[in-house]
Amino acid sequence: MNHSATDRPIKPGSTIGIIGGGQLGRMTAVAAAELGYRVHVFTPEADSPATHVSTQVTTAAYDDQDAVEAFGQSVDVVTFEFENVPAETVRHLSQLVPVRPHWECLAVCQDRVLEKTFCRGSGIQTAPWQAVENAAELADAIAVIGAPAVLKTTRLGYDGKGQVRIHPGTDPTAAWHDLSGGAASLPAILEGFVDFRMEVSVITARRPDGTMASFDVVENRHKNGVLDVTIAPAQISEILTKQALEIGQKLTAAMDLVGLLAVELFITHDDQVLVNEMAPRPHNSGHWTQDGCKTSQFEQLVRAVANLPLGTTERHSDAVMHNLLGGDALDWPRHLGDPDNKLHLYGKGDPRPGRKMGHINTLYAKGSQPQG
Ligand code: AMP
Repeated sequence: MNHSATDRPIKPGSTIGIIGGGQLGRMTAVAAAELGYRVHVFTPEADSPATHVSTQVTTAAYDDQDAVEAFGQSVDVVTFEFENVPAETVRHLSQLVPVRPHWECLAVCQDRVLEKTFCRGSGIQTAPWQAVENAAELADAIAVIGAPAVLKTTRLGYDGKGQVRIHPGTDPTAAWHDLSGGAASLPAILEGFVDFRMEVSVITARRPDGTMASFDVVENRHKNGVLDVTIAPAQISEILTKQALEIGQKLTAAMDLVGLLAVELFITHDDQVLVNEMAPRPHNSGHWTQDGCKTSQFEQLVRAVANLPLGTTERHSDAVMHNLLGGDALDWPRHLGDPDNKLHLYGKGDPRPGRKMGHINTLYAKGSQPQG
């Protein structure tokens, strides 16, 4: 199926449907409004961040076929802000209205085994891996891949959740129990542990005619498995930068994806560039583009899915993005007071520990090499 047939632009004034109501949807909706679009958000959760800034909201379960159908009939194009939407819902929608990215992109990025298989098929390197479904298969996989390694659920893992570290001597049965919570069988993956020197990511936008544009490669630092800081640009060699950009564009084109593809990469001590995971949507590591580039990742998504010319991805300032988790966001008066900081809050009520509440972009003169 050719999902990229060249077609007419979806003009300002039209309605963009966004599946998911989180902060990524909120920031996409604001960018869409700036370009004159209306936004209809479909979310199972009432009062979620995107609903505060949208023209229309459907609050319904993702498998509510009637609600999905009515939503599809009320919009001119659909995109999504997170990938754990049932692929079936997206497939159904795509019979009614263009869905960008198309549902197969979603299906690949929802599942770590499909994702890594896709990378392999595209000639792109990842950590060594093996699919495992039970404790016996895990023991076999550890014998092949060795330890240290990381055991992950294939689906629904995010921010380091659904992961168990395997060390030399770890008992496979105990590790399996830690991951599965007692279930004998579960789709999972064992990945060799990558002793990386840096984690980076690259975000690529692609239009229906195949035109692509990537933002600069950035460095990501995590705390407790959650993104803490993004540094733009990553302080890596030109060769590594080029490789990362090429990987992003190759995967985006190979998936025939229209929209945004974020690819998280490990850079090893011997300068290999390995894919960790992909997300077919705006990404936390792209938030710096709101203030460091003329075109933000959110505006770029709107342009791509509406089939408008892509914006320039040029970085006018270096930037460091800090996530504000839980109570960090309560410090907003201090962040507001710093003229180099740009504060973004998501309108979430309860600052539960670890919850992504907002972020700050701190800007530096281009080329001044911020360290984070
Ligand atoms: P993920 O949810 O797969 O992105 O994992 C969250 C974080 O855990 C990553 O950003 C890495 O810091 C770390 N991590 C995940 N997989 C591996 C691996 N195979 N080797 C080393 N670190 C990993």
